[in-house]
Amino acid sequence: MATDAPLHPLSDSDSDSSLDAGARASDCLEELIAGHRRYQRGEPVHYQNAAKDREHYADHQCPRVAVLACADSRVPPEIIFDQKIGHLFVLRVAGNFADDDNQASMEYALQHFTPPPALIVVLGHERCGAVKAAVDCFDPHPQFSPSHGPAPSSRLLALVGRLEEAVLGTKAPAASPGSAPADAGAHAQRIDQAVRRNVMINVDKIRANPVIRQAGVWVMGGRYDLDTGEIEWLTDPPSRGGA
Ligand SMILES: [Zn+2]
Repeated sequence: MATDAPLHPLSDSDSDSSLDAGARASDCLEELIAGHRRYQRGEPVHYQNAAKDREHYADHQCPRVAVLACADSRVPPEIIFDQKIGHLFVLRVAGNFADDDNQASMEYALQHFTPPPALIVVLGHERCGAVKAAVDCFDPHPQFSPSHGPAPSSRLLALVGRLEEAVLGTKAPAASPGSAPADAGAHAQRIDQAVRRNVMINVDKIRANPVIRQAGVWVMGGRYDLDTGEIEWLTDPPSRGGA
């Protein structure tokens, strides 16, 4: 990539609508990566223009990318990808899982914006509290899963249940010979496995959505590192025109 400068100027005239979906998705991914590099360097270009962007987008929006991210306060997509108001269609829920409601929102974006978003990103993150809660629920280890605190509500239990598949597909921390308790490092690794698996499960779920599939949208998955700010992409960009 030659530059980390924004690919799209403020005066977005929808000039990229003539490109096919794969070409637009590729441009969008490139801009996300460039924006993320700006964020990592501490050189964002959009934050300081938020008031100007607010005025510009008061009567329309032009989201080129939809992001399904966790509600975690440390993982704000607009900041992490250094994108301006009007350019990201963000859906957030603890555990960043795809359900009927947020998939319906994606379908709305695809059907009502011109040009429609060309890229959907499922963004999980390190040390996700929702994923940890799911691990604690479906494979509790008393030494890592303290029982104090208020009992979870039925709604919270239902949310955690959405992450069951991600947890059950990972391996429990290995116990040392002699039935010694699993160590905290192994437990943390197990949570991280579930974070990654949860991203991929939901990438596949979104890719299987017929409306999204028909639109030729790219669906990518990534894991955000809370310590370094790095994003590890868990999927490769698809071949042109595919999802
Ligand atoms: Zn989280």
